Amino acid sequence: MIKYHPKDQLIEQFAAGVLSPALSVIVATHMDLCPLCQQVALDAEQYLAEQVMQTQTKSLAPELSKQLDAMLEQILATKTPTDIIEPPYNDRLRLNGKLFQLPATLARQHQRIGEWSRVPGKILKAPLHLGSDECINLIYMDQGSRIPEHTHKGNEITLVINGVFNDEQDEYKDGDFVLLNQQHTHQPETRDEDCLTLATLDAPLHFTAGISRLLNPFSSLFFK
Ligand SMILES: [Zn+2]
Repeated sequence: MIKYHPKDQLIEQFAAGVLSPALSVIVATHMDLCPLCQQVALDAEQYLAEQVMQTQTKSLAPELSKQLDAMLEQILATKTPTDIIEPPYNDRLRLNGKLFQLPATLARQHQRIGEWSRVPGKILKAPLHLGSDECINLIYMDQGSRIPEHTHKGNEITLVINGVFNDEQDEYKDGDFVLLNQQHTHQPETRDEDCLTLATLDAPLHFTAGISRLLNPFSSLFFK
């Protein structure tokens, strides 16, 4: 059972197509794993479609409205052209000698996964190149690994793709969508299981405790 979901507002913004590429990918990946949020998105899409129809009938001249209907009909009647080149779909990811199954959204973005690099604490990360200057990474925590305690200067969203991680508040499993901001301090760690996550960060982490404070100047190296 998924315990943490994006707020409805975020899903509605996704349905309206107003989210940034990184947020869209992370919300869509959550929805791949979550029928509940898929339904929220469908409802939002339907509501938006109704709004659009109402505005059209109100504001468009009848002639234009007819043209638009004809156009829509034509679009709907056209089958998906077979000559559109689909990006390579690859739902397998081999990491640390293990094979992970990627949700559909990430499988479609597979060719955008950059090089894996090692981060202190048995952690691997690879950027997802979405063509925006946002920071979005796949992060793999081997079992028994720990990210130093930190707060956030902006928002951090972590989506669990496979596995389990813990912090002081709770345990997070497959599909959990965890949003943290400046008010949260936490220390994510894995125990007897490893964990693959997708994470976005809109500002560098700010480490708060002990020697890890020395890492602050480098915190952008962690996830940027
Ligand atoms: Zn959900």
